[in-house]
Amino acid sequence: MITGAAGFLGSHLCDRFMNEGYEVIAMDNLLTGSMDNIAHLLPLPKFSFYHYDVTKYVHVPGPLDFILHFASPASPIDYLKMPIQTLKVGSLGTHNLLGLARVKKATFMIASTSEVYGDPLVHPQNEDYWGNVNPIGPRGVYDEAKRFQEAMTMAYHNYHGIDIRIVRIFNTYGSRMRIDDGRALPAFFSQAIRGEDLTVFGDGAQTRSFCFVDDLIEGVFLLLHSDYNLPVNIGNPNEISIREVAMEILEMVGSNSRIVHMDLPEDDPKVRKPDITRAKNILNWEPKVSREEGFRKTYEYFKKKLGEGD
Ligand code: UDP
Repeated sequence: MITGAAGFLGSHLCDRFMNEGYEVIAMDNLLTGSMDNIAHLLPLPKFSFYHYDVTKYVHVPGPLDFILHFASPASPIDYLKMPIQTLKVGSLGTHNLLGLARVKKATFMIASTSEVYGDPLVHPQNEDYWGNVNPIGPRGVYDEAKRFQEAMTMAYHNYHGIDIRIVRIFNTYGSRMRIDDGRALPAFFSQAIRGEDLTVFGDGAQTRSFCFVDDLIEGVFLLLHSDYNLPVNIGNPNEISIREVAMEILEMVGSNSRIVHMDLPEDDPKVRKPDITRAKNILNWEPKVSREEGFRKTYEYFKKKLGEGD
């Protein structure tokens, strides 16, 4: 069972598990997800979709081997617009699904995040770092929901013996990102393609490390099938400033757009880069897709999407 199944990562996970021959129960309340992302799977007999909000009591008939909780608004402007839903899906939703995992004796995986490290004072971030989060800032609704989600999941592991996986996902990109989700890559690609100015927040010196979606899904799949219960960072350690990202995209698109600077959002992390030593040691995983290749595939996707008039 996959929650957030009609979202960016959820839909790619559905594809992966269907390709591996699993039966997939997909759940989504379509708050930020889109049926377009899973329309191709709906006719398949091993795939079923429930339009449902997991912050309410969840019942699923029959056995379940794995529950992957990937439902949540996930971009800064989404969780600013939907702060209460963001808090609820990470807390109440996680609690409901842990209850389901307990009844079904299922392995329970949560999509945690590099945001648990907040605006980090340790660089790069390894899993033993506890983070620097402002609980009442604009990102607090997401960061604290995810931190609570980890705490609740670990408590069910320790107290009820639930088999758990905690993946801390760093910035990921690729097809099926929403063009208007406000994140840097969809914003820059769509602006460059439309010939609009690229909106770099602050001076653009803040860094991120972008992982292509196929690499991320492979890491998640390997972690799920491991027996490792502590958090694991999955992301690409190739760090770049946001200003450089904007310039790379301008060059790739061959656009005449200019870069304009806008106010830096409150609590915007200054740096972010995963230490992936643990994933390398435990899963024998590391990202394979270069930024050049990943950006090119993503550019093709956005070009097609914008051509369709989305
Ligand atoms: N950013 C930007 N222009 C945009 C959108 C984002 O300069 O139009 C910056 C944002 O301030 C942050 C970085 O790009 O420093 C990555 O933002 P994103 O929303 O993609 O994800 P975050 O890592 O902040 O959650």
